[in-house]
Amino acid sequence: MTQNNKEINSHGKIVVKFGGSNLKKKEDIFSLIRAVEFYNQPIVIVVSALYGVTDQLINGLNKVTLSESAICRIKDELIESHRQVIELYIKDSTSRSKVISHLEQRVEELEKYLRGIHCLGEIPEFVADRVLSYGERLSSLVLAAILNERQIDTKEILPEDLGLFTNGEYRNATVDFALSEQAVSQGLAGNQNYIIPGFYGLSPQSKVTLLGRGGSDYTAAAIARCINAQSVDLWKDVPGFLSADPKLVDNPSVIHQLTYNEAAELSYFGARIAHPRTFEPAEAKQIPVRLFNINDFTPQLEPITVIGKQGYIAEHIVKSVTFSDDFGVLKLQGAGVGIKPGIMAKVTGSLTQEGINIKSIITSQTTINILLSRADLENGLQVVNALGLSTVHQVSTQQDISLIAVVGEGILEKPGIAARVLGAVSAHDINVWTISAGASNVAIYFIIDRQEQETAIRSIHEALFGSPQVHVSVAPQNQEDYYNDHSYAGSLGYVV
Ligand code: ASP
Ligand code: MG
Repeated sequence: MTQNNKEINSHGKIVVKFGGSNLKKKEDIFSLIRAVEFYNQPIVIVVSALYGVTDQLINGLNKVTLSESAICRIKDELIESHRQVIELYIKDSTSRSKVISHLEQRVEELEKYLRGIHCLGEIPEFVADRVLSYGERLSSLVLAAILNERQIDTKEILPEDLGLFTNGEYRNATVDFALSEQAVSQGLAGNQNYIIPGFYGLSPQSKVTLLGRGGSDYTAAAIARCINAQSVDLWKDVPGFLSADPKLVDNPSVIHQLTYNEAAELSYFGARIAHPRTFEPAEAKQIPVRLFNINDFTPQLEPITVIGKQGYIAEHIVKSVTFSDDFGVLKLQGAGVGIKPGIMAKVTGSLTQEGINIKSIITSQTTINILLSRADLENGLQVVNALGLSTVHQVSTQQDISLIAVVGEGILEKPGIAARVLGAVSAHDINVWTISAGASNVAIYFIIDRQEQETAIRSIHEALFGSPQVHVSVAPQNQEDYYNDHSYAGSLGYVV
């Protein structure tokens, strides 16, 4: 790195991300403004779409292929919901009409893509990704205007103008740091606030590519890495990471500190509090990821959970038990499948070629269990059947399952954790289908029938954490989004 780059790379700003859960009701933006003011220094803001807008666009995509009138409906709904926000926050009528006219222009851009889809009668994937990026494009436009109206000098920059590049994979792209780092760092070097729509970057061919559902967290961490930020602050409406889903367990404790690995595994296995890939760019530059609860903030900006390099081994080792229902098993059975060379390469190669993401693989001598997103299961089955592998006697799927994971530093070193967890589960006669320990240093996970999921989580939590924790510091208030946001799976639910 040249001396010049070093300087550019060390502006030490904070990247602050506000998600859809901070943008549910139009009144929520008051809290957002207050948080921005508390920083009292120039920050880089990354925003999600207003709550529900991405889902609305996904539904709209499918509708416009069939119906032309759906285009106007989508347009009107988007203008209306954003206009209501503008009207609440921008009182001056001249500025207000200016912002509304910018909003309309941006929605007209979107309209062109929707018309294209309607004419074609199908949705090319590059157009789908572009369309779905409009939720963030609209929220950033509106929020930039609101902040400026309040004398909080904020410049909006779109990822394409900033030079945030990806590997080009549609729907679920990875940020390409070699291509992005310098441009992003230079683009954000000024002494003012910036606001950037999250959720997408540009392919090397300059096409919009989405970063997966919930991808604005990942955008924030990626930008933080590019500018070597002081921290990535994720504002949520839940009290940080918890020892279990508050809907299933009465007294989950709040986790104040996690390592990057722990947070990544928890997110990957179902805790929807942050996009699982958020922690990769942060870890690359050892940037702390701090979680804040917008409903519970202090002027000292005290984070609830801090994710970083520093870890600790908890008294019970396990810090959290989590689950995901977005797993299905593709089972390949046959004597010796586990030791015959080449099978795995063929299978994984074909699945990847079909764009199917393999979430995990657990093998034995006679069975290869491939864990996929549920949405990919049928397609996966067809792909493997089409290979006609002679050593595989049966290919089947298992659908109604739940994956349960227990996560904590030290989990593999301390004997007896798996026994305790499985003991708690078997005490309720729950059958464990498959178990994996050792694939990750900080997680053990296993598969059970979905209908047993609640009982399993409760009994494991009870066995490990006992009755109410004394160190509960923040009672969960708004529990809605802890698990019940969208799926982070690659599948975006539209047909391409
Ligand atoms: N708006 C996008 C989604 O709903 C991205 C995000 O929320 O981070 O998935
Ligand atoms: Mg979100």
